[in-house]
Amino acid sequence: MRRGSSERELAARWEMEAVAEAKAEAEARARAAVEQVRVDAGAAGEPEGKAEQGQPRARAPARPRAAEEGDARGPQRPPRMLPQSKPKGLPAPARGLGQLPKPRDKGRGCKRSSGCPPDERAQRAVTVDSSKARTSLDALKISIRQLKWKEFPFGRRLPCDIYWHGVSFHDNDIFSGQVNKFPGMTEMVRKITLSRAVRIMQSLFPEEYNFYPRSWILPDEFQLFVAQVRMVKDGDPSWKPTFIVKPDGGCQGDGIYLVNDPSDIRLAGILQSRPVVVQEYICKPLLIDKLKFDIRLYVLLKSLDPLEIYIAKDGLSRFCTEPYQEPNPQNLHHVFMHLTNYSLNIHSGNFVHSDSTSTGSKRTFSSILCRLSSKGVDIKKVWSDIISLVIKTVIALTPELKVFYQSDIPTGRPGPTCFQILGFDILLMKNLKPMLLEVNANPSMRIEHEHELSPGIFENIPSLVDEEVKVAVIRDTLRLMDPLKKKRETQSQQLGKPAAGKEDLDSELTGVSDANPEAHLPSICLKQVFPKYAKQFNYLRLVDRMANLFIRFLGIKGTMKLGPTGFRTFIRNCKLSSSSLSMAAVDILYIDITRRWNSMTLDQRDSGMCLQAFVEAFFFLAQRKFKTRPLHEQVASLIDLCEYHLSLLDEKRLVYSGTAARRRARPLIEQSSQETLPAAQPAGGSPPPCMIGAKKLSHSGHALS
Ligand code: ADP
Repeated sequence: MRRGSSERELAARWEMEAVAEAKAEAEARARAAVEQVRVDAGAAGEPEGKAEQGQPRARAPARPRAAEEGDARGPQRPPRMLPQSKPKGLPAPARGLGQLPKPRDKGRGCKRSSGCPPDERAQRAVTVDSSKARTSLDALKISIRQLKWKEFPFGRRLPCDIYWHGVSFHDNDIFSGQVNKFPGMTEMVRKITLSRAVRIMQSLFPEEYNFYPRSWILPDEFQLFVAQVRMVKDGDPSWKPTFIVKPDGGCQGDGIYLVNDPSDIRLAGILQSRPVVVQEYICKPLLIDKLKFDIRLYVLLKSLDPLEIYIAKDGLSRFCTEPYQEPNPQNLHHVFMHLTNYSLNIHSGNFVHSDSTSTGSKRTFSSILCRLSSKGVDIKKVWSDIISLVIKTVIALTPELKVFYQSDIPTGRPGPTCFQILGFDILLMKNLKPMLLEVNANPSMRIEHEHELSPGIFENIPSLVDEEVKVAVIRDTLRLMDPLKKKRETQSQQLGKPAAGKEDLDSELTGVSDANPEAHLPSICLKQVFPKYAKQFNYLRLVDRMANLFIRFLGIKGTMKLGPTGFRTFIRNCKLSSSSLSMAAVDILYIDITRRWNSMTLDQRDSGMCLQAFVEAFFFLAQRKFKTRPLHEQVASLIDLCEYHLSLLDEKRLVYSGTAARRRARPLIEQSSQETLPAAQPAGGSPPPCMIGAKKLSHSGHALS
């Protein structure tokens, strides 16, 4: 698996050839390209001027030097705070919300535009823009090569099928194709936002969401934190808790520390700089070789609406480098004992670079499962608990992601469809229960690590474990996102060629091996878990349905906050005001909740009510209306009620617009009926066609869960 220097040379030469080919392609089409771009831009809705300028993206991808395993959030890393004793050598439902766009340029991959047989056209290589891939570039290149697709390392004048971004959706202006980032994902998985999203779900479904440690957001909730700790201590004086303090937006263990008492929290720093999440520390993790370890699992969010989630069958296990002891005042600051971050432990003298997938300080998760299985552990149960944790977490994240999505890619405007690989950090407790630590929007996809030859001199060495897991994840993500797959399958069916899957047998029989371009690849390492298990989890999607209501009343395209008029319209259209809830009381509710949320959140860009504030208002209304039931039942009933009134309204509007259209058309109909049908009468009993249409619409419009 290790790539030697000759393979590197080959890769470099291949890259140069790809660049030369891209240039030649552009030159060869010099005149035709301008016309073609015009046509393309028109089809994609891309501003014509921009497409015509056709500025090549000539910046070479930036590749930071430092080895990372964690969240590759950005190239810059803030200074570390944690290690107190520095070890030796210690030196970032709109247009689809996920529906595939139609491939526009059918013959783009053919050498000649005329006389190209249709099946050859369908077999053109999928194009990938890797110019912004950053640290995932090496794994991406290998994946593209294995798939025999076409890479554009410096971007492309014409649109590509897939854009691979290293950090965020906003890395580039893209108007078509597919991009490997969702707008808003980085914000959504920050420690505070994730904690808030999970907390909302915990308030609705406490049992289902007990896989996330109890958390407080400081400085806002400092008093609450102190009061709750004191209350538990008063009830049980023997309780000796430990808390872990994590700066919001931090990664790779930066600034994390443990405390036994709220008074030990460095509040001055928090007030001055950035807020933190304080969490109950999980004191009894599962140990292997006496060491604490965590799991990095890769999850593909293939589409937001409809929700599609895949989980990679293998992940990474990152080990601490000092034998674990339950926290006590003497070991609280031992980072190599308590924190599993690769980026920290690599600096320990005990770190072992793995030369196989089942040894060393970083191993495959499958090797851990094998070991557990040999000790009699029910690993099927472990897996199903992990799958359930992943689905529930994604369900907590999607409502706000939808708000971001409609804001960045409003309905009817040109934009790409999105997918994203997320890194889930999970800790197995001693009793094998998986606990969610955090979600990374940009999990590191590096497949090499740094080796210090002599003080200050480093070389990059391929990492077997990383390459094995990460290349498979990227390659198979691309396979699942392949925009030409459906087309190829239809074409081969039309031509009577075998569909993918029957290939191996057929090619053996016929000697034709090129019909399935994936025949040489291993089976896909990503397992679909949603909608596969939708039936078991759909009842949890209440906030998702609330987000649909919220988005409906946002009004102006591109906004993420609800104005007072939008909130009033929501109350009126859903018929929620009554003698006991006047519109004046509704206004006060809006002002109260909005003001509080705006003072808590850092995002002050727009004024108005954010989704979480809307959810809080919704809970309040649900509790008033349906007293004495559990919260999730109150909320579900209120959502049903709102959806019902809105569907009635939609029907009325359709009937009205149908009647208005008929009225406008009547003079013509009357005129023509006088001419052709002297005694025409409408058939009695059956509903008008527009009504049937309205019924259908109202069902499909509110069938999210
Ligand atoms: P970062 O993004 O900086 O890596 P994490 O939330 O992943 O922050 O925490 C870093 C490490 O701290 C984790 O890899 C894990 O080893 C440890 N850790 C985090 N939260 C907890 C917790 N609640 N209980 C026990 N260990 C934790």
